[in-house]
Amino acid sequence: MSPIALPTQNAVVLHGPKDLRLEERTLWPPQYNYAQVSVVSTGLCGSDLHYYLHGRNGDNVLQAPLVLGHEAGGIVTAVGPGVKNLVPGQRVAIEAGIMCNHCDYCKKGRYNLCKAMRFCSSAGTFPHLDGTLQSRMNHPANVLHPLPDSCSFDQAALAEPLSVLLHASRRADLTSGQTVLVFGVGAIGLLACALAKSYGASHVVAIDINQTRLDFAKAYGFASQIHCLPPADKAKTTEEQLRRAKENIQVALTEFGKEDGFDVVFECTGAESCIQMAIHGAITGGKVMLVGMGSRNVMLPLSAAATREVDVHGSFRYANTYPTALALLISGKLKNVEKIITHRFPLEDTARAFDLLARGKDDEGKMVLKIMIGDS
Ligand SMILES: [Zn+2]
Ligand SMILES: [Zn+2]
Repeated sequence: MSPIALPTQNAVVLHGPKDLRLEERTLWPPQYNYAQVSVVSTGLCGSDLHYYLHGRNGDNVLQAPLVLGHEAGGIVTAVGPGVKNLVPGQRVAIEAGIMCNHCDYCKKGRYNLCKAMRFCSSAGTFPHLDGTLQSRMNHPANVLHPLPDSCSFDQAALAEPLSVLLHASRRADLTSGQTVLVFGVGAIGLLACALAKSYGASHVVAIDINQTRLDFAKAYGFASQIHCLPPADKAKTTEEQLRRAKENIQVALTEFGKEDGFDVVFECTGAESCIQMAIHGAITGGKVMLVGMGSRNVMLPLSAAATREVDVHGSFRYANTYPTALALLISGKLKNVEKIITHRFPLEDTARAFDLLARGKDDEGKMVLKIMIGDS
């Protein structure tokens, strides 16, 4: 008797630094409460790039082959038993985190802090949970969000990074009329700017070390004012670095006409000097949101925060943001948000896409912000 041929699907699998292989894998039917999704668009993120380049992202080290990608949208192709909210053919955004739904954090609605959280494309748990850079995947139906009719698959993918900012904005109690300073205008920082404007921020400004990115932020109305930090060699002592950070931010604040600082500062770089500047950049009684990751141990000008009641908040991923993020993306309130997507590659060219993301500039000299994988 000949064996029954099971259907297969393609996955882009990371085996080690820069070792990305297109593999054919068996496609299993969806289990109880799971649905099968044909992935249409996946946005590449900085954390994916870290895994691709170094085989690790911070403390999370690749221990087994892993499919990257966690910003995605697709079409439901099959549903497992128990699934009531989805039908085949439905278009969805794929929320990448699978929470336990039972722990105190999950019950409190803070499932991003769930200790049992497994996150697609992260090596933070073992066995790792594969990401969305594959043609089809099975995923729990409760974290597949139906797309509004006018929502594109690219927008479904952007709902993930936007969720990060939505969560940070909620934690910051961002309200209309506030002033906002954003450090770093990569895709995340640009989304922070756009979101702040949609909240009715009265003044949104951006700081970066990259003039091209800043010009883009200004030209497309993400930030009304921009400031490029001067290039500097590494400070010899911590004191010198702290002093420089204070001086640099004072120059920027003066240029912005906001010597007292900003109500909310979104730190989207993770760089030590920017975190230091962020504290001085917040107004007395203001807030600093730590969105960027990268520096594990940072020397902070703590008294500048403590004696001025500047609250420094951590912000990690997101919880209960997807429906709002999708609604915002189709509302037109995030002006020029689609301009963040600068390049597109088919799934089989994912390695080329990562190399381009690492370079930051294409052969024509055009800046790289968000790369989409897929044919959307
Ligand atoms: Zn990400
Ligand atoms: Zn939980």
